[in-house]
Amino acid sequence: MKDTFNREIDYFRISVTDRCNFRCRYCMPPEGLRPLGRDQILSYEEILKVASTALELGINKFRVTGGEPLVRKGVVDFLKQLLALPGVKKVSLTTNGYLLREYAEALSKLNLGSINIGLNTLQESRFNQISGGLKNNRIIWEGIKELALRGFDRIKINTVLLKDVNESEVIDFARLTIDYPITIRFIEFMPCGKWSENMAQIIKGPEIIPVIERELGKLTPEPTIKGDGPARYFKLENARGELGFILPVSDPFCDRCNRLRLTPDGLVKSCLLSTERVDLKPILRKSGDQKELREAIKNAVLNKPHAHPGCRDIQMSKIGG
Ligand code: SAM
Ligand code: SF4
Repeated sequence: MKDTFNREIDYFRISVTDRCNFRCRYCMPPEGLRPLGRDQILSYEEILKVASTALELGINKFRVTGGEPLVRKGVVDFLKQLLALPGVKKVSLTTNGYLLREYAEALSKLNLGSINIGLNTLQESRFNQISGGLKNNRIIWEGIKELALRGFDRIKINTVLLKDVNESEVIDFARLTIDYPITIRFIEFMPCGKWSENMAQIIKGPEIIPVIERELGKLTPEPTIKGDGPARYFKLENARGELGFILPVSDPFCDRCNRLRLTPDGLVKSCLLSTERVDLKPILRKSGDQKELREAIKNAVLNKPHAHPGCRDIQMSKIGG
């Protein structure tokens, strides 16, 4: 379905929970956030109803996110049911990877589009500092290896760049794409919570491209914009994998934004940073009327703003990134 600015809206990010086993310093305050009550959170059945309605409007690609989606019980069965809805083109998953090792077997059997895994440091000692509390970075690598060993090859690693924190690891991350057939995506930090670091700490994507080129050689842009998201992809010479850049701050991608978001408590947001929202929960819990739901989702698409208003105090873990 097209919005009023002629953008094709065909991608829905579904945040299945606001809960998370991490407290990443760029996403949450160290003490965490007050979680939604159980009855506030949509059941999987309700989410599937929203997805079926979105499919009727031509929104046929989904990404399941959170909070941390793997901490919600029954998520694998939910993914299976989402994948089985008629008309679905793609279902993908975004996870912090901490529980990946135990879910790898089940996930590798699903026909997921991709699994995006947050990994912000390759150094054990730094992991705790970024993720807030948990130790053992290796467990994420073990999960990634387990997935790869089971033949799952659509793995992307998401690395949020943080000045004076993991900045020094850019080359190490980029070098991984030479040896391994994986995609590493550098994400510009968005200062979106009142607890999060200030603007001065943003490492702008365009600043690190020359740093990588100086060390590892030319980065050749991939000919087309790939995937369903805003990343721009490059390849180092003779590399098996590729490097992606997601630059919400220095290269906002509103003109090619194709997405809606569903929060765990049933709000449809047409823009990550705008206050525009449509609440589906009253419809789901009163009439459950499919036509009413369709109109509500259509309204969200039609009210999608032309561009985002800039970083504001939002709860990224609830909206799903
Ligand atoms: N827990 C999962 C994870 O971390 O991948 C999924 C939810 S997380 C909110 C989704 C994405 O948002 C992750 O790639 C995360 O790095 C990104 N994210 C969270 N806060 C961010 C921020 N302030 N700036 C940029 N990206 C952020
Ligand atoms: Fe949790 Fe993901 Fe936010 Fe980190 S970025 S606190 S893993 S939701």
